[in-house]
Amino acid sequence: GPKPEAAPSHAWLLMTTFCMSRMNKFKRQFSCGGILFRKDRGPIRVALISRMGGKIWCLPKGLVEVGEKPEETALREVQEETGLTGKLLQKIGEIHYRYSLKEEKTLYDKRVWFFLMRHTGGDTKEHDFEADEVAWVPIQEAVDRLSYSSERQLMKKAWRLIAPKGKPA
Ligand code: ATP
Repeated sequence: GPKPEAAPSHAWLLMTTFCMSRMNKFKRQFSCGGILFRKDRGPIRVALISRMGGKIWCLPKGLVEVGEKPEETALREVQEETGLTGKLLQKIGEIHYRYSLKEEKTLYDKRVWFFLMRHTGGDTKEHDFEADEVAWVPIQEAVDRLSYSSERQLMKKAWRLIAPKGKPA
């Protein structure tokens, strides 16, 4: 016959209570960002930002503010974090991850949309405090340099969109 369901062990109850005492809030976040590219002499280049003094390389992005369209957020955040401006072309895709902030006892569930943007102007020296450094990186190298696998996947997709016939970048 069916096995009787085991009662939760003492260890399990202790662990659950411990975790709940540390993490008791759950919040959803929605951010938007961009892959800003440049195609002049030489390879296609994209704008990446570094954080944690260069330990992390990632894409510029930020929270969607009240009343803002995703496209507007993406352009604003790219401009703030890289100092660069662009023309938005299309959505590339979205990523999803979770992280926790112990100080806030909160588990965040986050969704981020990324858009493809053609570079139009600006100056990387004008970037804000969110980035430690802004770099124009050849797209092939950017795929390796990005710290998060979800962003690496998006970069590969952007590459296919920019150079669809496998043309040399
Ligand atoms: P935003 O740029 O949207 O304003 P933020 O700078 O406040 O956000 P995140 O960049 O989401 O915060 O980082 C919060 C935590 O999530 C950090 O610990 C970071 O390392 C981690 N993180 C950021 N991006 C990813 C990702 N693509 N995959 C997994 N973890 C990530």
